[in-house]
Formats: sequence, C-alpha cells, structure tokens
Amino acid sequence: MRALCKTAPKAGFEFCEVPVPNLGPTDVLIRVEKAGICGSDLHIYSWDKWAQSRIKPPLVMGHEFMGRVAAVGEAVRMVSVGDRVSGEGHIADGTCFLCRTGQAHLCENLKIIGVDRDGAFAEYIALPEYNVWKLDPAIPDEFAAVFDPLGNAVHTVMAAGVSVKSVLITGVGSIGLMAIPVARAAGASAVYAVDVNPAKLELAKKLGADETFLATDPQIVEKIRARTHGDGADVLLEMSGNPQALDMGLRAVRKGGCVALLGIPSESITIDLADRVIFKGLTLLGINGRRMFETWYQTEALVRSGRVDLKPIITHVLPFEEFERGFDLMRSGEAAKIVLDLKGIS
Ligand SMILES: [Zn+2]
Ligand SMILES: [Zn+2]
Repeated sequence: MRALCKTAPKAGFEFCEVPVPNLGPTDVLIRVEKAGICGSDLHIYSWDKWAQSRIKPPLVMGHEFMGRVAAVGEAVRMVSVGDRVSGEGHIADGTCFLCRTGQAHLCENLKIIGVDRDGAFAEYIALPEYNVWKLDPAIPDEFAAVFDPLGNAVHTVMAAGVSVKSVLITGVGSIGLMAIPVARAAGASAVYAVDVNPAKLELAKKLGADETFLATDPQIVEKIRARTHGDGADVLLEMSGNPQALDMGLRAVRKGGCVALLGIPSESITIDLADRVIFKGLTLLGINGRRMFETWYQTEALVRSGRVDLKPIITHVLPFEEFERGFDLMRSGEAAKIVLDLKGIS
C-alpha cells in the first residue's frame, strides 16, 4: 500500500510502498479517507531536536484521521466492515496502574501512532478495537479527521471547568482556535485570545472570542483585569508553549483561578512560582491527550449540537499528493488546520 513515511533521520517525508498491516484477533483495519496534519507532524517533518530524540525511522507518519473499516480480526465485536470510524491514536497497554485506575491517557507504556508505531498517512491503518471510535453519521468527514486535536481542546476546557467563567486562551494555533467554540458551548461567560499572528486572531473572533490581543501588546494584563472587575480571568488555557505567554497568562489570571497547560515548551522554562502561582492560590493542570473515552463522547456531543463548527478552522483540504504544500502552508502560518484527502490513492 501507499504511505507517507519518514524513511531516514533527516528533514522531509516521502511516499513509499509498505505492506498492509497485519491484523491480530482484536485489531481493526481501516481504509483511511481523510487525515489531519498536526503541529507535531511538522516537527517530525522538519526533523527538530524533539523529533530526533523520539522518532525511529522508517515510520509511517500521521495520527489524525477518519476512514472506513476494511477488515476486522475474528474477536472484534464493536465495529464491522464498512463502518465509518475515527480512532484514538494513543494506544495504552491496558495493564498498568494508570490504565487500571481510569487514566489510560497517561499509560506508562503509551504508544502513539505516527510517532512510536506506524501512522495514518497511508491507505490503511490497523488499530486495536478498543481505540476505534465509530462515527455518528451527522459528523462531517473533515471534522471527524481532526477529532484528535479537537479532543485535546475539549479535554483542556473540560478539565479547567469554564461554566460562567471568563477564559483567557494564550496561543490560538488550531487547538487554541478549537478551544474557543468549545469553551463557548461549555458555558464560558467571556473568551479572550492572545496570539502573535493577527490572521489567527481574526479567526478567533469569527469563532466567538469576545476580544483578542496581539501578544506584543504590553497592556494585555491590565486590559483583562479591566474587563473582569479588576480581578483577572477565572481560567487560563495555555496553548502556546511559549514562556512569555505563560508568564503573561499567569499574571492575567485571577487569584484562586485555574490554569490548564496544553502547550509544550521546547525546553525547560523558568517561572516565578512564588508570585505567579503559590501566593495567588492557582490550580495548575497538565493536560495530555484525551480521556479514554470520556473526551470522545464529549467531543461528539459538542459537534452534534452544532455549537462547535470547525469549518473556519479547517482552512485547507488538499489531495494526499500535495502534502508538501500543506507543510509549507503550516510553516508560513497561513493555514490553521489542513486535512489531506486520501480517498483516491492506491
Ligand atoms: Zn495531532
Ligand atoms: Zn497502561
């Protein structure tokens, strides 16, 4: 089958012919129809320090996808051939302490498709039945293809708890953008967004942000306070991984507020723990992946309700062959979310 692979420890991806994955008794073979390009794919494509330490080529790339079940192992019960599905790309072992206490998203032996094992930028992907998510017919293919990052946004918003609260989002890449309608649908009383890219802030407004601020604005903290009775935002969703954004966000959140951290700093960073966190009585939450499968049920419910519309975020749907254009568009900051169409390939 045709697949987009990292074939050697250097920048770039290339098409290659690889065998269709073998199926164990509890595995499901999925014909991939649409697949999202993620920021982490760009890191792997560019072959940065993180990618060099984590990725062992040769590897089929991609972890955000939807498609149709093409075959099932003999013990599979939950899906059948022809079902439209997406999948949780974090594969837990099911046996460690975390898995056995309802925290499989933090599994000690987690394997991620397109990172630790072959991914979804291919004609077919095999997944354990447990990881397959049968799609509601009301959910469009493009949305279903990005349930993975949308799930990150949902997990972050739901963990922080935003009902009738003012929410500041630092970093509106695709997941930060997705968090805006999610926070709205979850009952946020106000949503503010900060980013370095004015085009992303325009999108943020379209998606329901009350107000947006360029990251270079030195008055953001004062402006947020002025809009929140002088207190600061109730909730900070940090989605940039940028140390300055985090520091600003910690200053802009109110005493006793909640901070959910999803953005990943590229190296160790320093924060003034005493003044920014301890004396303010903040609650800090690290967010990783999606809760299996609570987040998936929430994500489906939000999309089905019609209140989380990803159309403005999915700026490009490109043929699989044009993946390089996709990565160029991502790097330039021109695109929010790019979805590749794999339907025609063989
Ligand atoms: Zn991703
Ligand atoms: Zn585990």
